Amino acid sequence: MAQQDDVFKKIVSHAKEYGFVFQSSEIYDGLSAVYDYGQNGVELKNNIKRYWWEAMTLLHENIVGIDSAIFMHPTIWKASGHVDAFNDPLIDNRDSKKRYRADVLIEEEIAKIDDKIEKEVAKARKRFGDSFDEALFRETNPRVAEHRATRDALHERFSRAMNENNLEELRQIIIDREIVCPISGTRNWTDVRQFNLMFKTEMGSTADGAMTVYLRPETAQGIFVNYLNVQKTGRMRLPFGIAQIGKAFRNEIVARQFIFRMREFEQMEMQFFVRPGEELKWFNQWKEWRLNWHKALGLGDDKYRYHDHEKLAHYANAATDIEFQMPFGFKEVEGIHSRTNFDLSQHEKYSGKNIKYFDPELNESYVPYVIETSIGVDRMFLSVLCSSYEEQKLDGGDTRVVLHLPAALAPVKCAVMPLVKKDGLPDKAREIVNDLKFDFATRYDEKDSIGKRYRRQDSIGTPFCITVDHQTLEDDTVTLRERDSMEQTRVPVSKLHELIHSKVSLNSLLRKLS
Ligand code: ATP
Repeated sequence: MAQQDDVFKKIVSHAKEYGFVFQSSEIYDGLSAVYDYGQNGVELKNNIKRYWWEAMTLLHENIVGIDSAIFMHPTIWKASGHVDAFNDPLIDNRDSKKRYRADVLIEEEIAKIDDKIEKEVAKARKRFGDSFDEALFRETNPRVAEHRATRDALHERFSRAMNENNLEELRQIIIDREIVCPISGTRNWTDVRQFNLMFKTEMGSTADGAMTVYLRPETAQGIFVNYLNVQKTGRMRLPFGIAQIGKAFRNEIVARQFIFRMREFEQMEMQFFVRPGEELKWFNQWKEWRLNWHKALGLGDDKYRYHDHEKLAHYANAATDIEFQMPFGFKEVEGIHSRTNFDLSQHEKYSGKNIKYFDPELNESYVPYVIETSIGVDRMFLSVLCSSYEEQKLDGGDTRVVLHLPAALAPVKCAVMPLVKKDGLPDKAREIVNDLKFDFATRYDEKDSIGKRYRRQDSIGTPFCITVDHQTLEDDTVTLRERDSMEQTRVPVSKLHELIHSKVSLNSLLRKLS
């Protein structure tokens, strides 16, 4: 774990050093859990968004996009349940003065017991070697059974307390399990209180009687309240989807782990409207499609898993998370939820407007059911960054830091470098840049030795480096160096476009999905 922490620290500092992510307001000592994206970060982020957007709106004839406002009528958040129930239970440690989410403290305690079980299994695997029957061991080993019983009892008690919104019981679990504050090491806990995560602000001048409005905590409600506009103006027939990318804001109690949990972040959400009764079929379909979207990036199929929710919100009839293996464990990157007709019915009730869909095939009107896919851009960015980062030992004892970014997502696709800064090589290199720049993010670099220039591009994940040397002036060929293999091949300048395009275009990634 300590080693993983180290790797994560390195990734965070690499992100800063190479212009991917900066702490917001850094020269004023920063603003907690708010981050800015730098010159390379914004490109990577835009490419992730484009991959999602095009996978949704180009590959599905029945999905269209919108861009709704961040401010919305405050009643929307009453109808959606956010005003009354978008809360996290918080608890303070009186000695360290640190604040925690009570549910997270207990979830971490459950994870610790899970770890103990996994350790027993790993030990036995080592001891028994090839003859190890893992399933049997998990069933029959008394220590595993004991841990599991403790875990299940704790989980059951925790779920009940959460479902019943029983804050005293949450505190009692923390006391009974002797959970200590990681900073002070003490058990001097306050009561547990509910804390609403929405940011409030005021609209209009106070003299006129300002209205309290919220910064949206999710983009989805902007889709729900526009569902009928889009359906009518786009003459959409069920099933159809509406996609949106935009900022969301949550006043997270504990914001840790870099851009994993932020107070201002970006979501990519798609609501898919279906006939009642068909929602579970579509839920399973979207589960599969979304995992394929992730896997097509080639970050490693074993890095993903589904986490089906045992405890469902009262309006949902199925929910799963797609989790990704971050350096700090498997964590949610995307949620897929079957939300029944809850949101649309609530908006119908609170607005007093009829938002039913007339189904010409059934000749009846109803409120559609909804499957939602919701992914955080920043968490996706973090998963791409973490799985791409490598400190590689090279032959000869040298090391390089390389980002094995999926080529279609890389901020820069190719860098053109004159071998030396004279003899007309820079002019030739610029000529190549001026041709490639219309199709690919292309950089020109002539500073430092060629080796250093390659390293610089490796560090930001540039898939190709093109070197212009004296031979180029004679036969119009260059060397094309590939980032991961570091292999260099001599190719004609006239072939560059085709070679690069075949590897870096979003097209080839999208084709894997259809
Ligand atoms: P968590 O349990 O981690 O708080 P959540 O279940 O509340 O997440 P959703 O409301 O389902 O998250 O939001 C959908 C997606 O938005 C998440 O899968 C995640 O990728 C992203 N997301 C949610 N909260 C944050 C945040 N504070 N910072 C960055 N991304 C977030």
